[in-house]
Amino acid sequence: MKALREARHWVFDMDGTLTLAVHDFPAIKRALGIPQEDDILHHLAALPAEEAAAKHAWLLEHERELAVASRPAPGAIELVRTLCERGCQLGILTRNAHSLALLTLQAIGLDDCFARADILGRDEAPPKPHPGGLLHLAERWSVTPRELVMVGDYRFDLECAQAAGARSVLVNLPDNPWPELTELHAQDCAQLLAGLS
Ligand SMILES: [Mg+2]
Repeated sequence: MKALREARHWVFDMDGTLTLAVHDFPAIKRALGIPQEDDILHHLAALPAEEAAAKHAWLLEHERELAVASRPAPGAIELVRTLCERGCQLGILTRNAHSLALLTLQAIGLDDCFARADILGRDEAPPKPHPGGLLHLAERWSVTPRELVMVGDYRFDLECAQAAGARSVLVNLPDNPWPELTELHAQDCAQLLAGLS
């Protein structure tokens, strides 16, 4: 298997991967009247247009407050800066909105490492685990999906990578609940970076 340190095309999940996880999804679901077992974006998509718009607006405002207050995850700044300096192509694939992803990157001081068109939010790509976002970036960068490394902190990130045929790294969990979906498990971005040097 090709060493990860040779990888030149990296795609990051945002919340909980580059930033400390602050989303309280059970509380968001309670506030929006969404059953705890439902997926938020799927639930909103099935609502009548007016109700969906109102709830999307609430979600956006709630997430804007979180974005402005974002803190980087351990090692995230150093990892992204290093890859950026090596000339790697870097993308973001998030279920958050594009504008909020940008706001978050600005808050942690990494916005200059990502081309705007390589930041895919929930309006630019189908929500993970759908592989559409990764396939789009592979096409934009003129590489095969296998050249991409998806870094995330949740099952959706890994399933997305698998469905696209990309490589996968899980970070920020002490144990790996999904070894069958994971090429590499690192404690955090700092450990991942250490493995790349
Ligand atoms: Mg995440």
